[in-house]
Amino acid sequence: MSRLFPHVPRQNLRYLALLLIPALAILPLPDFWITQLNYIGLYSLVSLGLVLLTGVGGLTSFGQAAFVGIGAYTSAYLTVNMGMSPWVTVFAGLAITAVSALMVGWLTLRMSGHYLPLATIAWGLSLYYLMGNLDALGKYDGILGVPALSVGGLDLSSGRPFFILVWCMVFLGAFALLNLLDSRTGRAIRSLKSATQMAEAMGVNTLQHKIGIFLIAALFASVSGWLFAHFQRTVNPSPFGLKMGIEYLFMAVLGGIGHVWGAITGALFTKVMEDQLQVLLPQLIGTSGSYEVIVFGIVLVLKYLPDGSWSLVGRHFPVPQRVNTWFKAEALPERSKPALGEVVLDVQKVRKQFGGLVAVNDISFQIKAGQIVGLIGPNGAGKSTTFNLITGVLGLTSGAVKFRGEVISGIPSREIALRGMSRTFQHVKMIPDMTVLENVALGAHLRGNKGALSAMLRLDREEENRLMREAARQLERIGMADHMHDLAGNLAMGPQRLMEIARALCCDPALLLLDEPAAGLRHKEKQALAGVLRQLRGEDVSILLVEHDMDLVMDVTDHIVVMEFGTHLMEGTPQEVQQSDKVRAAYLGTEH
Ligand code: ADP
Ligand code: MG
Repeated sequence: MSRLFPHVPRQNLRYLALLLIPALAILPLPDFWITQLNYIGLYSLVSLGLVLLTGVGGLTSFGQAAFVGIGAYTSAYLTVNMGMSPWVTVFAGLAITAVSALMVGWLTLRMSGHYLPLATIAWGLSLYYLMGNLDALGKYDGILGVPALSVGGLDLSSGRPFFILVWCMVFLGAFALLNLLDSRTGRAIRSLKSATQMAEAMGVNTLQHKIGIFLIAALFASVSGWLFAHFQRTVNPSPFGLKMGIEYLFMAVLGGIGHVWGAITGALFTKVMEDQLQVLLPQLIGTSGSYEVIVFGIVLVLKYLPDGSWSLVGRHFPVPQRVNTWFKAEALPERSKPALGEVVLDVQKVRKQFGGLVAVNDISFQIKAGQIVGLIGPNGAGKSTTFNLITGVLGLTSGAVKFRGEVISGIPSREIALRGMSRTFQHVKMIPDMTVLENVALGAHLRGNKGALSAMLRLDREEENRLMREAARQLERIGMADHMHDLAGNLAMGPQRLMEIARALCCDPALLLLDEPAAGLRHKEKQALAGVLRQLRGEDVSILLVEHDMDLVMDVTDHIVVMEFGTHLMEGTPQEVQQSDKVRAAYLGTEH
């Protein structure tokens, strides 16, 4: 393909697949199958949104059918009662959907755990009863006589023309999602399921991204509803109830939640299975095809295909290797760094109490630009807690933290990241199914600004290349360029920790905080880490290093602060600390 069209970027060649859709429509398929495929296309659109929301973002919604209903009812009402064109009313439907999704999302997405699914059930139910009880919407009879979609006299609302319309929409929707997931915003979205704390530390506003994918999923559903209304030529509440909301979720799960193309195979499976079971089951067990048996069928499929139906198809496609498109990209701008010797971090009598336990007891110390300061102490001394107080993960009980002269205590960690503080985690936090390069690029989140829309339309490539160039550069800097295209989850512990350092460096930090970077490393890997730290010192990066490995600490730090039981025991140069009787006693008294 790419040889036929040498000047078109490879990514864009997939749009040629759209030409297959009219080609399929010309084939002598029975009309029955065209109709079935039209429904499958309508379902796929909703399911695509759910792949993004639930599969990738980890947010479960049973309420998508209600958004389909909003799209359908808005267009039906406005075309029938106001005589408006369906090509206009689609936007009215999208606008009403957007407003309701933003409202529902704003109210519910802060809730954790099971509250979100419950809230979406409540939303689905209430909208269903609203549609069924409003006189203006024809109560449970709905609205009849919805006009057909047409272009220049050509009726698009049935059979093959509708097939072309709906499947072009499905494919364009799928391409848009694939583009989105492969972007700056996409990496932030992919962090929502399992790594929100890390993403916030990289400057990602996770609530905003959750609301964003809730909105996008609702808009996909709304478009499906609009098409549905003009396909059926009538609307009533029943296809928009909770039962359908559950079914949409099944489709996404059956497809192999998290795979964009799975949305289509899931819709296909569900529709075919529903039809088959409705014929088959009354013969087998004598009841009419009730809902439980469909659930039963779905459970069977999941038992034999735990990764969803897309895994049947997807395993035949190789994972595409990312091509180096960034070698010509311009470097990202860098922030102005504090002058050598200037106080970067000023920790002033910070205190943290957990109930009666004083984990950090009025600790004060400073870090000057270009210094590597070690924070050491026996287990449970309060090092990680101090670290979390500085980075904004925990709130202070009292005291203050000043960063580059500005008080930062009390502000969220993503805003601290914006001011130039970057960190790694004691327990590695990453997105295992993203490549090392993508994980590291998440660190550069704040150095770009392209959002979801430009990603979907691929208008973000120049910025994306600049971000990738930076991520690749940081990986080279710490000697991990060879692992760039590996999945992060496949790395051993040592490279994982180095990857976290590269990610933190991608923020272009004025201060880097490392929490036990050598924990769990083998001797060789520790030496590599020490090499990286020495190299960073040579580049005048300021670092706060929490570490257990005394050889490493003595080797790379300029200054050491020792904590014991939450208190400040002493501080000084590595020699002074080594010779201190107090420090020796503290360590002897506990673990050594
Ligand atoms: P270190 O990193 O030096 O090993 P930590 O800062 O993790 O020590 O812990 C200091 C003390 O605070 C320990 O006694 C620990 O049990 C306690 N602690 C830490 N986090 C919490 C928390 N979220 N709730 C209650 N106690 C905590
Ligand atoms: Mg710790």
